Amino acid sequence: MNPDGERRGIHRARKRFGQHFLADVSVVDAIVQAIDPREGERIVEIGPGLAALTGALLARVAHLHAVEIDRDLAARLRSRYPPQRLTLHEADALRFDFDSLAAPGAPRLRIVGNLPYNVSSPLLVRLLDFRACVRDQHFMLQREVVERIVAEPATRDYGRLSVLLQSFYVVERLFDVPPEAFEPAPKVQSSVVRMRVRDDRLARDPAPLQQVLAAAFTQRRKMIRTTLLPWLDARGAPRPPLDPTLRPEQIDVAAWLSIADSAGMPYPRR
Ligand code: SAM
Repeated sequence: MNPDGERRGIHRARKRFGQHFLADVSVVDAIVQAIDPREGERIVEIGPGLAALTGALLARVAHLHAVEIDRDLAARLRSRYPPQRLTLHEADALRFDFDSLAAPGAPRLRIVGNLPYNVSSPLLVRLLDFRACVRDQHFMLQREVVERIVAEPATRDYGRLSVLLQSFYVVERLFDVPPEAFEPAPKVQSSVVRMRVRDDRLARDPAPLQQVLAAAFTQRRKMIRTTLLPWLDARGAPRPPLDPTLRPEQIDVAAWLSIADSAGMPYPRR
């Protein structure tokens, strides 16, 4: 039986916080093995919940940070682990300042979590702001989201999230996890993804890329001559050397970055 079985029995899972607790020890082990935590690393868990992953991580390292929004779960975690082992931040990860956990000369953060699926995309985008103090991220997510994150151009799943995240991380889909591994079981399949921060792109501001992607992908089936190119024209930005009959989903990450570079310049409006 999972060591958290009893606790789950008395904690009523809250839908609004996307609570599906990992109950399959072999999945917990596989995640910890993928993370391969080492003593001295700064590991931050988002949404520790009933501590399935937390406990397994703390078996490998002396100390962890965790960010949990649910007041009851935060109280349980505090009573279970002393602060020397777990620094519990009772907070919304969407608003949490991850930079506050970094320190000059300290190792960069390793962020992990079985993320609440209802906020996973905004959280992934928000975490972009902190990537300078992050080394890598290992997340359990809804499988469709992981498929979008790792998708190649000209495939069904390739879109804004793929371009945005692949621009700033080396992404890798690790393994799938069935609904039965959780309690309560979610209605969707899950997957674990690894995202390593690309140091060569740390100096780049994601904002121009986000704007360009928003302009182009709202109508992803349309040719760029009717969407992206007029948008660039209106900004006085140069047109990219691309076939105007391409659709946004056919343009690779490198090309999007170079479009964002030109669009992000302070071109005067015509
Ligand atoms: N890590 C645990 C596990 O694997 O069993 C729990 C995972 S459960 C899918 C998601 C966890 O994230 C819950 O503990 C939930 O309360 C917490 N959570 C939900 N929204 C959050 C937010 N915005 N910020 C921080 N934690 C959040």
